[in-house]
Amino acid sequence: MIMPVLVVGAGPTGLTAAALLARLGVPCTVVDRHTGVHPLPRAVHLDDEAVRVLQQAGVAEDFAALSRPASGLRLLDARLRPFAEFRRDRRVGAHGHPEANLFDQPGLERLLRARLARDPLVTVRDGVELTALGAGPVATLVDRATGATERMPAAAVLGCDGAGSAVRDAIGARLRDLRFTERWFVLDVVSRRPLPTWGGVDQVCDPRRAATFVPLPGDRYRWEFRMSPGETAAGLARPERLAGLVAPWGVAPGELEVLRAAEYTFRARIADRWRTGRVLLLGDAAHLTPPFIGQGLGAGLRDAHNLAWKLAAVRAGAPDEDALLDSYPAERAPHAEAVIRGAVRVGRAMTGGQDVAAALRRPAAGLLLRVPGVRAAALRGIATRYPPGPLVDRRRHRHDLTGTPCPQPPVRVDGRAVRLDDVLGDGYALLTAGPVPPALGAAADRLGARVVRVGEEVDDHTGALRDWLRRGRAAAALVRPDRIVRSTAPR
Ligand SMILES: Cc1cc2nc3c(=O)[nH]c(=O)nc-3n(C[C@H](O)[C@H](O)[C@H](O)COP(=O)(O)OP(=O)(O)OC[C@H]3O[C@@H](n4cnc5c(N)ncnc54)[C@H](O)[C@@H]3O)c2cc1C
Repeated sequence: MIMPVLVVGAGPTGLTAAALLARLGVPCTVVDRHTGVHPLPRAVHLDDEAVRVLQQAGVAEDFAALSRPASGLRLLDARLRPFAEFRRDRRVGAHGHPEANLFDQPGLERLLRARLARDPLVTVRDGVELTALGAGPVATLVDRATGATERMPAAAVLGCDGAGSAVRDAIGARLRDLRFTERWFVLDVVSRRPLPTWGGVDQVCDPRRAATFVPLPGDRYRWEFRMSPGETAAGLARPERLAGLVAPWGVAPGELEVLRAAEYTFRARIADRWRTGRVLLLGDAAHLTPPFIGQGLGAGLRDAHNLAWKLAAVRAGAPDEDALLDSYPAERAPHAEAVIRGAVRVGRAMTGGQDVAAALRRPAAGLLLRVPGVRAAALRGIATRYPPGPLVDRRRHRHDLTGTPCPQPPVRVDGRAVRLDDVLGDGYALLTAGPVPPALGAAADRLGARVVRVGEEVDDHTGALRDWLRRGRAAAALVRPDRIVRSTAPR
C-alpha cells in the first residue's frame, strides 16, 4: 500500500496543500480536531499571487465567485479624511487575477473542502486530533467522538495546525518573537443598507483608536479596532460602546446585525525550524503576522505551493531528498519573515506614535506616502524573491529573473484565450522567445520540462511575456512547477 501524506489541520493552508499534492498524484489524509469549517471569519484579503496558488489547486473560478476585487488601501486621519491611497488593479494584475481580493475565510474553506471531496486521492477526517508524533514519521491520532486511538505511519507529515501547532512542538521548534503584540477588537457585521465605501480597505491612523474598515462581498463589512488596556471584547460589544465605535462611519448599531465581535491578539512570530526529516511546518504553524497588509493566509498558501512539488518529487524517488526539502525553509522562511516585518512596519507607521503627524514622520510612513513610488515601497518584501540555492541559480545581474515568479498574462493558443499556467502544466517549463539556448535546453531536458515558445506555442498578444524576458535580459527562463524561475539564459 502506498502511504499517504498526513496533513494535520484542515485550515486553508492544509486544504490547499492537499489539493496541490493530489493534483500531482500524491495521496493525502487530512485530519482536523474540529468538525467542519471553522465558523469565525478571519482572513479577508488575498493578493493575486496567492489566488494563482488557488488556481493551481483548482478553485480559482469558485474563489472569484465568492470574492470581490478591491481598489486597494487608503490611509485616513482620525476624522476619516483620506490622505494617502495605494491603488490596486481591480481587473487583472501580473499573476492573472485581480491584485487585491476581499472574501470571507469560511467561504474559501468550504470550497476547498468541496474540491477535496471530489478527489479520490484525498481523505478528510474531521474530529481527529494529532496527539503525538514519533520517528518514521508515525502519528498518534485520537478520534474525539469515540476516544479511539490509532497509530498512522505517513510518507510525510505536514504541520498545518495553526498558531498552537502540536506538530511544531513535536519537532521541538520554537516561535521567535518579532516584537509585535497588540489586542484588537474584530467586528463582522451584515448591514441593512449598503455602507458608502470606495471599494477598498480603510486604515484609520488614529493613535487613540487605530481602526481598519473592510467592505466584504455582499452586505458584509469588517471593522477592526485596536483595544486599549483594560478594555474587553464583551465591553466593546455592548450597544452603547458599539454605537460610539461605528458612529464616525455614519452608521447606527440598529442598522447592523453583528455576526461576530471578538478579541484577537495580533502577533509577529516565526518558527526557528520548519523541518525535521519528513515533518514540515506550513502556514500559521510556521509564522504569525499582524494582519495590516493582509498577508497571513497568503504566506500559508505560498508555503503549500513551494513545498507540494518538492514533496511529490521526493515521493517519486528523487535522489536529492535533503536538498529538495531543505530548500523549502531556506526559500520560504526569509520571505515570510520579510512579510511579517513589513506588516509590523506598516502597522506601526499607520497606528503608532503619539499623534498622526508623529506616525507619518516615521520612515516607513514616509515611504508609503511617496507617490508614485508608494506601491513599490509598500509592497517591497511582499513580492516573492527566493535566494539562490540548489533550485534557484545565482543571479548574474540585478535584473535577473531567477528566484522570482513568472507572470501569468493572458495568452492565446490556437486562437483561444487561455491562462499561461494551463499551458505550462504541473511540471517544469522552459519559456523561450527564440531558439532554445543549448545549456538551458539540456537542463530542461533533464527535468522533463515542457518547452513553450513564446509566439509559437502561445500567442503573447499583449507582449507581456516578451517584455518580462527583455526586462530580465533573458533569452529564456526555466520555470519550476511553482512558477518560480530557476535558471535563465542571457540574451
Ligand atoms: C482578525 C484576523 C484577520 C486576518 N486577516 C487576514 C487577511 O486579511 N489576510 C490574510 O492572508 N490572513 C489574515 N489573517 C490570518 C489568517 O486567518 C491565518 O493566517 C490563516 O487562518 C492560517 O491558516 P492555517 O490553515 O495555516 O491555520 P488555521 O486556519 O489556524 O488552521 C489550523 C487548523 O488546524 C487544526 N488543528 C490544530 N491542532 C490540531 C491537532 N493537534 N490535530 C488536528 N487538527 C489540529 C485546527 O482545528 C484548524 O482547523 C487574519 C487573522 C485574524 C485573526
